[in-house]
Amino acid sequence: MRAQDLLLVTLREPPAEAEIPSHQWLVRGGFIRRVASGIYAYMPLMWRVLRKVEAIIREEMDATGALELRLPALQPAELWRRSGRWDTYTAGEGIMFSLTDRQGRELGLGPTHEEVVTSLAADLIRSYRQLPVSLYQLQTKFRDEIRPRFGLMRGREFIMKDAYSFHADEEDLRRYYGCMDQAYRRIFARCGLKVLAVQADSGAIGGGASQEFMAVADAGEDLVLSSGDGRYAANQERAQSLPPPSAPLKVTADQCFATPGQTTIEAVCAAHHLDPTQTVKVLLHRACFADGPDQPVLTALRGDQEVNPVKLTNTLGRLLAERGTVLALERLDADILQDHGVRLPVGFLGPDLSDDVIQGVPDLVGGFLRIVDSTAADLAGFVCGANVPDRHRRVPGWPALGLSLTRADVRSAQPGDRCCHDPKTVLTATRGIEVGHIFQLGRKYSSALAACFNSESGDAEPMWMGCYGIGVSRLAQAVVEQNHDDNGMIWPVSIAPFEVVITVANGEEQEQCGLAEKLYGELRAAGVDVLLDDRMERAGVKFKDADLLGIPWRVVVGRNAARGHVELKTRSEKDVLDMDASQLLPHLIPRLQRQRRGGLPEAGV
Ligand code: ATP
Ligand code: MG
Repeated sequence: MRAQDLLLVTLREPPAEAEIPSHQWLVRGGFIRRVASGIYAYMPLMWRVLRKVEAIIREEMDATGALELRLPALQPAELWRRSGRWDTYTAGEGIMFSLTDRQGRELGLGPTHEEVVTSLAADLIRSYRQLPVSLYQLQTKFRDEIRPRFGLMRGREFIMKDAYSFHADEEDLRRYYGCMDQAYRRIFARCGLKVLAVQADSGAIGGGASQEFMAVADAGEDLVLSSGDGRYAANQERAQSLPPPSAPLKVTADQCFATPGQTTIEAVCAAHHLDPTQTVKVLLHRACFADGPDQPVLTALRGDQEVNPVKLTNTLGRLLAERGTVLALERLDADILQDHGVRLPVGFLGPDLSDDVIQGVPDLVGGFLRIVDSTAADLAGFVCGANVPDRHRRVPGWPALGLSLTRADVRSAQPGDRCCHDPKTVLTATRGIEVGHIFQLGRKYSSALAACFNSESGDAEPMWMGCYGIGVSRLAQAVVEQNHDDNGMIWPVSIAPFEVVITVANGEEQEQCGLAEKLYGELRAAGVDVLLDDRMERAGVKFKDADLLGIPWRVVVGRNAARGHVELKTRSEKDVLDMDASQLLPHLIPRLQRQRRGGLPEAGV
């Protein structure tokens, strides 16, 4: 390819909305163009990268025995109603785009494909002899994200590789899940991405074991907590840890005391010589469901702890399973309650806050479901709000409150917490970009959609399922997030839009053009993805663009062309090798061959 023919439009300045380096560089290099919020055009350079990423994914998926297919993006609501997900995905904070066709039928644009693929499996798979089966696709997904941002990182239309496997028993599902884990590690390594495999929350999809692959990057939206010994790593959404021990507090009698204006834990502790671990704080939420009123929830935590909304939502989902999926968990803050005539003693709430306070608030029914985090539940004596302004209370223990409470783990593990597997190690925090996620779904979807097979003993049983996703477009941008410098992107050879750029220093010099053309022809003949920059631009402009685009190898045909010499340089290193042009291919080809299998160019040219 010649740079002239590439519709290359590079920008000097990053666009205002690009907050992170990878987004800035991809736009500046002309790889992507924003069409609307969360909707991007993949321009020719980006498309070349994406095709290479897809090729790597295909190779590794095919090697596991998975079969590629293509499922429709338009999906009937009926299927999603059968799995019970239509409401979760379209109402409340649901992210499915939905529409009604000319015949009045409801449809959704697929954010994921469990329903479609499970209904196909239900039709096609009858016998254990047909199992296991694994199906995958590389396809556009649609999600009406609440906060689309960071370019391709969180798009509303993006490319995903999704795979679904079907098994006769759980053991076989586990075996294949292990194969996918290995395949994913190879895919990311071949794309030149440094990832951490971490335990993950199973979210609205539900099911059993699940693992995310996090590309390590400061711009990552996820927080990973891991132990120094490499034995534990989890997304903070689900991470567990040992909380710091609490300072004992001896309370002999239930006793109120004045805390004027002391509305925070810090203020109460400072004024009364308490440690935050000796206090209990209270949070109010409403859990919303597809049908019926909202459930008021009161959560008590130890004063030094933070609530983990994902754990709390999952706990409520389990406790209130008969009400269906929790669509949303919203804070019941004082302003909302005040609108309904409720005057909460904010800053002075205690776990025994009366149910009366929420009577009459629209959409809320019944009393509080009272959850107490284990850290708080374990306290013998503690201090909490007295449910009247400017007063707190010393409580000799939970029985003194006479409440019906459900104990659960709803706190967020924090960096610095001790690990459960070894209290001598502590958790450290790393930011990550979720580039892949593998789940053992179990039989949730096969049961809902009647995807059964006849087992060896002749019984009809729901199939065991796994699902496995990779954010293809997000992955490509994550590679840039991990590999760039002040001058632009640094693509690994394996997925670079071009492997080599030949820059003609002076396009008016016949000798330079002639030698560049010759090398261009030879490299192409040798199967190298090469870009010839023969534009009539100043050498400086071409060098700048070559750096910006991040092509891993650069051959400069300049003044030394007169004596048959060229300069060879990698994008990531400063060193330049001056060599006889005849030596270029023997030097470069073996290196490229190695690097195509993954990783960045090795040090030194
Ligand atoms: P996230 O937590 O980032 O919203 P998710 O857990 O909802 O992602 P999955 O349903 O697990 O995503 O989808 C599989 C993969 O698709 C993710 O691991 C991620 O790499 C990618 N992905 C998900 N949402 C987006 C998006 N809005 N834009 C780009 N890629 C995405
Ligand atoms: Mg996920």
